[in-house]
Amino acid sequence: MGSEGSGILYLCATPIGNLGDISLRILDTLREVDIIACEDTRNSIKLFNHFDIKKPLTSYHEYNKYDKARELIAKLKEGKNIALVTDAGTPGISDPGEVLVRECMDEGIRVTSLPGPCACITALTMSGLATRRFVFEAFLPADKKERALILKELENESRTMIIYEAPHHLVKTLNELYETLGDRRISLCRELTKRYEEVKEFTLSTALRYYTSNEPKGEYVLVIEGKDREILEKEVRDGFLEMSLEEHMDIYLKQGFDNKESMKKVAKDRGISKRDVYNALLKNN
Ligand code: SAM
Repeated sequence: MGSEGSGILYLCATPIGNLGDISLRILDTLREVDIIACEDTRNSIKLFNHFDIKKPLTSYHEYNKYDKARELIAKLKEGKNIALVTDAGTPGISDPGEVLVRECMDEGIRVTSLPGPCACITALTMSGLATRRFVFEAFLPADKKERALILKELENESRTMIIYEAPHHLVKTLNELYETLGDRRISLCRELTKRYEEVKEFTLSTALRYYTSNEPKGEYVLVIEGKDREILEKEVRDGFLEMSLEEHMDIYLKQGFDNKESMKKVAKDRGISKRDVYNALLKNN
């Protein structure tokens, strides 16, 4: 039981392709809860049949996520325990879950997450690219303006980037990534945990050429190398050098730094001493 007699919401990760990846704890939980909320009951029933799980099922998906959250919360408040599963992987990662979790937390209902398969982490670990620092972008937005904004943000991202994509949009996305990021390294991770699992290493331009003549099939995760930090720092420095010292100082003064701190920051950005900044400012006045 959660707080004050309420039930608990259990987020249960399910396989992304290989049924053997379900955890023992998740199987126990699915057998013990009162209700299982599924993104698509027709899809999850295959998993439940395989493991002989017989429980009342209800749907919780993108198109009922607000109204249904209220219904599920009422049940949790009656003391019912609920498991949430999505079509594949970890609930809340690029699929419904986030709204229900937020609302449960607002209502003081305990939420716990039972870890398991997740396509983005599986792909990252086998991509061969740097794993220490990474960002997950999920699916790039469909809206043109929003998409352009996110791509622009990614242009100078130095961490490894992970993106989900459907096969029929892959070539378009690779093209946009190439146009924005230049010719970075990319690992295309396909059909993870399944029979035809594969990781293909390319640069963005060779990936684009390859998939333009070889139709993409199956599920893909794109793992892209971040921008080289030395290049990034040089570009930032060159950008600063293009502005006058006064304009550069203004950036920090407007952020609330005093004169001394601003001079220190300007000196660091331009790779010169504080005294040089001070003298140049004096000379300009
Ligand atoms: N919740 C899921 C998770 O934890 O990864 C993600 C769901 S999202 C709706 C579906 C996307 O995840 C697919 O379009 C694909 O990009 C990625 N994906 C899911 N399963 C995959 C697999 N077995 N191999 C490669 N990509 C997969």
